[in-house]
Amino acid sequence: MSKPTIPQLKNPDVGHFRFRQFDDGRFLITNDMGAFVWLSPEDLDAFCRGNLDHDAPLYRELTDKGFILTPESEAQLIERIRRRSDHLFLGPILHILITTLRCNQKCRYCHASRKAMNRKAFDMSLETARQSVDVIFESPSPHLTIEFQGGEPLVNWEVVRFVVEYAYKLADEQGRGVDFTLVSNLSLLDDEKLDFLIDNGVMICTSLDGPADLHDRNRPMPGASSHSQTITWMEKINAAYESRGLDTSLAYVNALATISKSTLSGGRDLVDEYIKRGFKVVHLRPLNPFGFGEKMWQREGYTAEEFLRFYRDAVDYIIELNRQGIEIQEKTASLFLTRILTDDNPNFMDLRNPCGAAIGQIAYNYDGRVYTCDEGRMVSEMGDDLFCIGNVAENTYDDIIHHDSVGSLCLASCLESLPGCADCAYNPYCGVCPVYNFQMQGDLFALQPANDRCKVQMGIQDYLFTLLRDGGDEMRHLLDRWTIERDRSGVYRRND
Ligand code: SF4
Ligand code: SF4
Repeated sequence: MSKPTIPQLKNPDVGHFRFRQFDDGRFLITNDMGAFVWLSPEDLDAFCRGNLDHDAPLYRELTDKGFILTPESEAQLIERIRRRSDHLFLGPILHILITTLRCNQKCRYCHASRKAMNRKAFDMSLETARQSVDVIFESPSPHLTIEFQGGEPLVNWEVVRFVVEYAYKLADEQGRGVDFTLVSNLSLLDDEKLDFLIDNGVMICTSLDGPADLHDRNRPMPGASSHSQTITWMEKINAAYESRGLDTSLAYVNALATISKSTLSGGRDLVDEYIKRGFKVVHLRPLNPFGFGEKMWQREGYTAEEFLRFYRDAVDYIIELNRQGIEIQEKTASLFLTRILTDDNPNFMDLRNPCGAAIGQIAYNYDGRVYTCDEGRMVSEMGDDLFCIGNVAENTYDDIIHHDSVGSLCLASCLESLPGCADCAYNPYCGVCPVYNFQMQGDLFALQPANDRCKVQMGIQDYLFTLLRDGGDEMRHLLDRWTIERDRSGVYRRND
């Protein structure tokens, strides 16, 4: 894309907007309420100089979308910005509990700095679990989600069980809602644990990196195929939902795919595996650098450009499948499209402004230390405790949320104040990650344009806007469907 030139603003009714010039010469302009319009260079010139014909359809479109300000459009602008930013009024809703660092798998890209199965010193104690839940219930959100992570959280089943029962007790006493998610490789499940999880409405999420050869290569398990374990349990859990009469279009095991170097040439096989297993969504997550040594990154990592080539090819394939009537969508694209095409706020921690660090999510380590997010905890496992904001044995929620690092991360992820992001056309849809910046560039503030995470976000949004620009009504209709997320919150509920 060429370096754009833009005429000086002469029109006092022009609202604040950002722009990006595309390869066909047209400009994409966006504003804070997330509206966008395509303009030819001539139309952009006339718009900025106040020379647009007031009776032209373009003038009406720019007014309706808040680019030309009237008293009505200003009121609409304020209301829509408020709606798109409603995460600011919620407080931390996601609380991640690291029940143990032990794990029975040896994933090649493990972010969690796993420990061997015999190292019980890395388990959370019941006392630390109780103190963690007490802090969680000091936080203000009327509805809380507790997510069990590790290591492999099922290794410390006693703590999982205790937390579910204790959190329900506090929720009942305080008249609040609480949901649970277990993020697990599933291999340590048994019938009794599964009954407990379903009876208590615990949502289950796992990893599926592709067909057996790829998954087993990425996620080796001593003496067994991790793919076969995951698939066997996924099918068993989904059958259990069905036999208990749950709506199986809403109640199913979630899965995430982490893209390693080996996946880059197998995007279509990965999508086929998800379809074969009955998924309607595939989440193609780039590898992140947390928990990695340099050597591991050399082995498993790749450039932003390599990832984007993979991503575009996989999503092109998904679109082809949609046209054949096969229902499947890609999650990152869905999140961006929801921000681009609707005013809904998916409140995805890494794509919000400011990001979710501490004010949207908090991570509680096995030893009681509290972190801004799970990624901040992973950095601490590599030797830097910058993102530690307290300890459940000593601090209250108030101490934790007022820790200096919380303010620093808010500032460092507030897009309006960041060089590069402040003027970027994708500002209304995007998010930055200060922990990633710190890990990769040694600074909480992204050093653009060399920041690979920004390159990926920008590349994905360029791709989506190009689809919208070139695809006409058929593509718009197809991508609109990716923004529809059915509410699954009421599906998993405790059996009283
Ligand atoms: S991270 Fe990159 S793509 Fe996103 S708003 Fe900032 S500059 Fe734009
Ligand atoms: S710092 Fe990064 S990982 Fe942590 S919440 Fe923010 S965006 Fe997410």
